[in-house]
Amino acid sequence: MRARPPTEDPTCPICSKPVRSGASEVSEHGELIHTRCRSQHLQLRAIEEVGRAQKAQERAATLLNDAERRRAVHPSDVSPASSTHPVNATGFVLVGRVRSWNPGTRELRLSGGSPFSVPDEVSMPPLTHETSVTVIGYYVNRAQPWIVTEVHLSPTFG
Ligand SMILES: [Zn+2]
Repeated sequence: MRARPPTEDPTCPICSKPVRSGASEVSEHGELIHTRCRSQHLQLRAIEEVGRAQKAQERAATLLNDAERRRAVHPSDVSPASSTHPVNATGFVLVGRVRSWNPGTRELRLSGGSPFSVPDEVSMPPLTHETSVTVIGYYVNRAQPWIVTEVHLSPTFG
């Protein structure tokens, strides 16, 4: 280790001017630094942080707007019956196999899913166990059961 010459004051890493004890402190890197330079430096860093945070916030807002626009377009794309949905409903389209269909209670189950409620006015194709169907409908705030507005037989493969 080489000792620092005692006549030479350490220099401030920010302004490169000599640092005399009294108006200085030790930075987080262990260097002597002017108290004034340090506080200015910290202020600059804080301003940069704020700028970065604002940019991130703007970016997030843009992404959110995009997602909302896409979601708003989505239901009319997939379901012609979307105009009959309640205001806060979310449309869905599902393809699956019939587990059970009860014409009395109008309850439809697909394999591995929760029961759907099928209103009386919805006409049902002839369904048997394992019939492949496309179910179109909506739900409100993820409440059960999901309401069916259309049921179509899906083409079977194989
Ligand atoms: Zn300085």
